[in-house]
Amino acid sequence: MKTVTKKGYAKINLHLDITGRTSDGYHLVETVMQSISLCDEVTLSLREDGAFTLSCNVDGVPTDEKNLAIKAALAFREKTGVKYGADIVINKRIPMAAGMAGGSADAAATLLCLNEACGNILSIDELCNLGATLGADVPFCIVGGTAYADGKGDILHDFEKMPDCYIVAACGGEGVSTPFAYKTLDGIYGGFYDESTYKSRGTEALSRAMGEGDISLIAKATYNIFEEPILSLRWVAKDIKKTMQEGGALGAMMSGSGPSVFGIFADKESAEQTAKTIRQKGYFAEVCRPVGDAVGRVRELS
Ligand code: ATP
Repeated sequence: MKTVTKKGYAKINLHLDITGRTSDGYHLVETVMQSISLCDEVTLSLREDGAFTLSCNVDGVPTDEKNLAIKAALAFREKTGVKYGADIVINKRIPMAAGMAGGSADAAATLLCLNEACGNILSIDELCNLGATLGADVPFCIVGGTAYADGKGDILHDFEKMPDCYIVAACGGEGVSTPFAYKTLDGIYGGFYDESTYKSRGTEALSRAMGEGDISLIAKATYNIFEEPILSLRWVAKDIKKTMQEGGALGAMMSGSGPSVFGIFADKESAEQTAKTIRQKGYFAEVCRPVGDAVGRVRELS
């Protein structure tokens, strides 16, 4: 039976802000996401008997229907009516619950594997729509590259491309659940984010910097509304950020709802030395490159 392997790339948020709240309580976000070369690898082999199995090299990752990869496979089967099951093997390298979209990357890679194994019966647009039912970051993980997203973070638009550079992705210490991060933020801003309580930053400075391809300006234009409140509660993440700044990062910022932090470096040596210093402190750090930089996207929407 057919076997397909795909990479599921981690993402960083170059910009993450909140623009309001829906009547049913969802936070509306404005974000610019970037795929980085840190990735999980998903290998999927079709099964005639319709059963699904999952194995992963990392302890603590759910191997049942709680795993987003299995959820994605079941959603694909329901949408397309195919009768196949699959053995899914995840080689995980993206740290868990770090704000780097590891689970979403696995779900995206699973959808792409399954679609290819079944003869590409869905378009990339259809896969994104299906992915959005699994999690807000899944459509971006399917398309990859650099993208602006609004709504719940699942409506993708074009954005200027990220020029090549070195990105140190790091994390350590106590994790941050996304609901906890939003609760912390709501406690500060009163939970509404309307004009009277909160003015969102906008992405003009980042867009200009990206358009000019100026890494230094890009690093300075990064923003994350969650950073200040979460770093005041997670000293390890705060220390990692400081280590990046001391190591010569042009800018360092928390990613997503944390606690992962990324640093943007112009030169490889400083990036590698900084990653080494962070690892010596006992935390995860990897030197990455932006993925999809030359083409803007990894996969074009159809
Ligand atoms: P995001 O940035 O999209 O908010 P995250 O990177 O913070 O996500 P994940 O690594 O996706 O967080 O994991 C969050 C939780 O989801 C984990 O604690 C785990 O129990 C569950 N989970 C389900 N499927 C997966 C998967 N394939 N990989 C990792 N975690 C998964």
